[in-house]
Amino acid sequence: ALTVQDVVAWIDKSNETIQTNKDYLTTLDQAIGDGDHGINVARGFQEAAAKIADGNYTSSADVLKDTAMTLMSKIGGASGPLFGTAFLKLSTAVKGNDPVDYATFTTGLKEAVNGIKQRGKAIEGEKTLVDVWSPMADFFSRQADFDGEKIAEEAKNAMEQTKTMTATKGRAAYFKERSDGHIDPGSASSCYIFKALADVIG
Ligand code: ADP
Ligand code: MG
Ligand code: MG
Repeated sequence: ALTVQDVVAWIDKSNETIQTNKDYLTTLDQAIGDGDHGINVARGFQEAAAKIADGNYTSSADVLKDTAMTLMSKIGGASGPLFGTAFLKLSTAVKGNDPVDYATFTTGLKEAVNGIKQRGKAIEGEKTLVDVWSPMADFFSRQADFDGEKIAEEAKNAMEQTKTMTATKGRAAYFKERSDGHIDPGSASSCYIFKALADVIG
C-alpha cells in the first residue's frame, strides 16, 4: 500500500527524474514536435513538488489533487491538461483510502486512462502518452501487488514501443510517417513518472 508520504515521495521523485532528463525530453520533442516538452513538464513538476512541499498532508487524494491542479495550470502545451486529468482521476479514485491499497490504485489508473483518452480524443496506438498509461493500467490489472522492478521494466517497454507507431494525434501528427522510429516525448515523461513510482516502492 502507498502511504501519504509515499505519494509525496512519488511526486518529488517524478520531479527529480524529469529535471534530470529535461534536455532529453526536449530533444525528443524537437524531432517530432515543437521542442518544448522538456521545458513544459520540468516547469509543471517543479511547481507541483514546490506546492506539495508546503502542505502538511494527511490524505493521498489531496496530494494528487494539488499535483493535478498545478500540472494543469503550469505545464502548458497539449500535455498539461492530460497529465492534470490523469492525476485528478487518480485523486478521486483513492479518496478516503489511506494508505492506498493496490486494487484502489489500479482502479485509479484505469480511470486516469479513460480520462486522458476522453480529453485528448486519442486511442491506443496513436503514439501519444496514452501508449504508456494504457499498457501500465493493463499491467497493474494483471498483477496482484506493487512490484517496483516490474513496473519500471513495463513502463520502459511501453515507451520504446511508441517508436513503432505513426503519430495521428497532437503536433507529431504533422510529421506523419516521419514520426516513425522516434520515441513519443509524452510517453517518455510518462515513463519517468512510473519509474519514479517504482523507485518509491523499491
Ligand atoms: P505541445 O505539443 O502542445 O507542444 P507538449 O510538447 O508538452 O505539448 O506535449 C506533447 C505530448 O503530448 C506528445 O508527445 C503526446 O504524448 C501528448 N499528446 C499530444 N496530443 C495528445 C492527445 N490528443 N492525446 C494524448 N496525448 C497527446
Ligand atoms: Mg511540444
Ligand atoms: Mg508547445
